Amino acid sequence: MNPSPFPLAARLLSLVLLPTLGFGALPDPEAILFNGKAVTVDPSFTIVRAMAVRGGRIVAVGGDDEVRRLAGPGTRSFDLGGRMVLPGLIDSHTHPTMAATSEFDHETPAMETIPEVLAFIARRARAVPRGDWIVVEQVFITRLREQRFPTRAELDAAAPADPVCFSTGSDMMLNTLALRECRIDRDFAVAGAGVVERDANGEPTGLLRGLGRYVHIPPARRVPSDADKYRRLKELFHAYNQAGITAVADRKTDFDIVDRYKRMDEHGDLTVRLSLSQLIPDIGPLESSLEAVDELGSNPLRKGDAWLHIVGIKMFADGGMMSGSSYMSEPWGKSDIYAITDGRYRGVLNTPPERFFRIAQHVAKQGLQFDTHAVGDAAIATMLDVYERVDREQPIRNLRWGLSHADFMRPDLVARAARLGVVVDIQPIRLYDDIHTLVRQFDPARMSYFHPLQSMFAARIVTGGGSDHMQKIDEARSINSYNPFLGMWITITRGGKWYEGRLNPEQALTRRQAIQLYTRNNAYLLFWEKEIGTLEAGKRADFIVVDRDLLSCPVNDIKDTRVLETWVEGKRVYGSGR
Ligand SMILES: [Zn+2]
Repeated sequence: MNPSPFPLAARLLSLVLLPTLGFGALPDPEAILFNGKAVTVDPSFTIVRAMAVRGGRIVAVGGDDEVRRLAGPGTRSFDLGGRMVLPGLIDSHTHPTMAATSEFDHETPAMETIPEVLAFIARRARAVPRGDWIVVEQVFITRLREQRFPTRAELDAAAPADPVCFSTGSDMMLNTLALRECRIDRDFAVAGAGVVERDANGEPTGLLRGLGRYVHIPPARRVPSDADKYRRLKELFHAYNQAGITAVADRKTDFDIVDRYKRMDEHGDLTVRLSLSQLIPDIGPLESSLEAVDELGSNPLRKGDAWLHIVGIKMFADGGMMSGSSYMSEPWGKSDIYAITDGRYRGVLNTPPERFFRIAQHVAKQGLQFDTHAVGDAAIATMLDVYERVDREQPIRNLRWGLSHADFMRPDLVARAARLGVVVDIQPIRLYDDIHTLVRQFDPARMSYFHPLQSMFAARIVTGGGSDHMQKIDEARSINSYNPFLGMWITITRGGKWYEGRLNPEQALTRRQAIQLYTRNNAYLLFWEKEIGTLEAGKRADFIVVDRDLLSCPVNDIKDTRVLETWVEGKRVYGSGR
């Protein structure tokens, strides 16, 4: 699946002569690390004791003696003291700019209950000038103790003189003033996708599903400048390094974001590699979406290098399962949790399939990766229909078209995705944070195909782990948590917060598969499998040293793993060494 350019690297010492050097005077490796337990994640999951690094690449892996023999006067040697070494970890779904600036205007505390949400809103109401918008973002109702939206009346009481928007994913609860400012009243008619929830008298309850386009919130008082964004991104990337992350996919870029990354790259300020999926509009004239695809297709960063490249586009098929708008094949069912009163409601499909198809044809022609946010099984099925139609005209396997989230992956969808060579980035943290609520909403039959990771591995779908990190720089407070070891632990145990037992334990991954999820598989998703994702001669020297043996420690210790050192391209970017 991941052809290595150096398949013999496995158990033997392997030495690569970098083409530019030719034979003869080969410089000494800059670094040799020995006496470790280096998990190479190569196709045979070889474990070696030592590794040599030169010119930012791994030049040899193998036993202590054979690798140490390569040392010269210019080589620094590091005794790993038996510690475990892993390839640098890769997160295939992040939103760095959003996350890095999410607390620029004000800090947002963790909120686990409705009273905490209302207290925060009341505090904001005292802090901002009268009439300013108060916005609470990404406090998911599935993660609140009460498992419900705050009501319009509760928001009114907390901030009587300000418009309030409680926003999660593509859905939001507005208070009375906010509805008035958006001109959403009993006569309001939705054009296109989305739902205004109404009470028995036809009055909007405040809950809007997939209607963000009607809610224009003025920017906060303190808006980050370009320099602020740049500085905070640097901070965030160092925080990622601290968690063992050396490469990420930004799954929703625009040209402003791309330009900033480009400057960071040129100034040597990147400490994580970045693979980009550009957002293509799903509303407005079709022509402008097609032009956006063409413009991306001719961007020089498509080729990029091993630090920064554009891999394709991103679109949203449906809403979310944390807010009640993912597009399901069976009705959601009436729900106090999600405030659903219509027994036939199936969620929101953002764009007609024909429009997705027209755009997808263009994306294929440009040779780009099409990545779709698709949460519900009907959203996934709709996009697989689109992908199959395009595939009949032009095979898409080599384009590695993808699904982001893919939470409700029915067995027939697993089979269809596998046939197309579709790749998936999945967020284990959603299993952890949300199942205690999901099992209340959905029957066991529907939950039986929630995150069927073992089935996806068996079907040879290349599946990668991602966080969907979008808020806060600090790992312990981040939403969604970008701790990859927590992600691994979830896929191994299938356990959840406030949830007894394990969800579909037969779908649990082995420890090796969990490591593969954040290394080799993600490298493939990001078109970087020749550069990163494994520790093999010829690959970039991205690796981490961790404080425990992930293959043999007690299973519950996996999530508490600490990273001691992080190296990117042969340079230590985190940790002090010995
Ligand atoms: Zn996302």
